[in-house]
Amino acid sequence: MTSYDVIVVGLGGMGSAAVRHLAARGKRVLGLERFTPAHDRGSSHGGSRIIRQSYFEDPAYVPLLLRAYELWAEAEKEAGADLLTLTGGLYLGPPDSTTFAGSLRAAREWDLPHEVLEPDAVRARFPTFAPAADELAVFEERAGFVRPEAAVAAHLELAARDGADLRFGQQVLSWDATGDGVCVRTAEGEHRAERLVISPGAWAPSVLADLGLPLRVERQVQYWFAPPGGVEPFAGNPVYVAEQAEGAQIYGFPAMDGPDGGVKVAFFRRGRDTDPDALDRVVTDAEVQEMRARVGHTLPGLVGPVLRTVPCMYTTTPDEHFVIATHPEHANVTVACGFSGHGFKFVPVVGEILADLATTGATAHPIALFDPRRFP
Ligand SMILES: Cc1cc2nc3c(=O)[nH]c(=O)nc-3n(C[C@H](O)[C@H](O)[C@H](O)COP(=O)(O)OP(=O)(O)OC[C@H]3O[C@@H](n4cnc5c(N)ncnc54)[C@H](O)[C@@H]3O)c2cc1C
Repeated sequence: MTSYDVIVVGLGGMGSAAVRHLAARGKRVLGLERFTPAHDRGSSHGGSRIIRQSYFEDPAYVPLLLRAYELWAEAEKEAGADLLTLTGGLYLGPPDSTTFAGSLRAAREWDLPHEVLEPDAVRARFPTFAPAADELAVFEERAGFVRPEAAVAAHLELAARDGADLRFGQQVLSWDATGDGVCVRTAEGEHRAERLVISPGAWAPSVLADLGLPLRVERQVQYWFAPPGGVEPFAGNPVYVAEQAEGAQIYGFPAMDGPDGGVKVAFFRRGRDTDPDALDRVVTDAEVQEMRARVGHTLPGLVGPVLRTVPCMYTTTPDEHFVIATHPEHANVTVACGFSGHGFKFVPVVGEILADLATTGATAHPIALFDPRRFP
């Protein structure tokens, strides 16, 4: 039996970056994924993910973001792929909202280039946006979007180029770890290695059941609307997050899918619970109407017919911070899950952290916030 240094379970966003960084360090890597490369049954599909720096979730993420930008550029160059597009980012809401006040706080704390815009200035600069009189916006130039499927594919390709053994259609049925190493079982047999990285996305509640994490798997729909006046006015837009009544946040992208592709929008959080093996792919009229009403508040010209809807999953922790750590019971197992709907922009830096933890047991990156032992 081939012996590996590290086995990585789950080759979605985080796992693809983990195999890439491990293989680049000369490790003998086996990657196991139950579906196909860059599939649409987990959390890393739908064409676009926002990337931004003035992080309203917590300024503690900013150093990781700065490193992620460097690594996105490096992955683009090495893979010859177009992964990140800067469009600018607009974070709108009432003055005391998480979206506005939290973005401003992070920008100030880390001295990130940004502007504060009054509603008139938003309208003048970005004519498709119609903020209410009591809303303010932070604008930052260094925001934009990354392409999730292309990013997963690029990381897998770089890993394979460096010799990683990547296998698809391989569901991991069980794993265990002892002082001597780790053992992973699939329908085809057993695989052994010195170390294990587990990045199972929405399947964390079962694959990492032993951790007893309080995770919630949420169904989240991505919508593409056809603006009645055509997509052209939306083509030069920034990415945005807009916070409305009761803290509801929507976010969206510029038109980026051609004249008939529509413009993508979605709700941030507040999805309904789902079983990852029974994700409901039917999106109801009531759901479309609710999205339409929220979009109409911020981008009235966007509410035309819905062209496409694509469900996806968040795996959410109670404090909405990630779980990235050495397994508390097994020093040779590294875990990454609970990305709570905001993990994709961090993919390459999470890959670097997982490679650090799986090879040296430590990382210089600040990950104290992501300790699984914070939950009772
Ligand atoms: C609608 C939506 C919008 C989002 N928007 C943003 C955004 O704008 N910005 C942002 O930063 N983030 C965003 N996110 C969040 C981000 O996409 C996720 O945090 C990220 O994709 C999670 O990556 P992952 O590797 O944990 O999960 P995944 O990419 O799903 O990977 C997990 C993999 O593990 C595999 N797996 C599971 N169990 C097994 C097993 N037993 N054996 C083998 N393989 C297994 C799965 O098949 C899957 O491929 C969004 C998510 C969604 C759903």
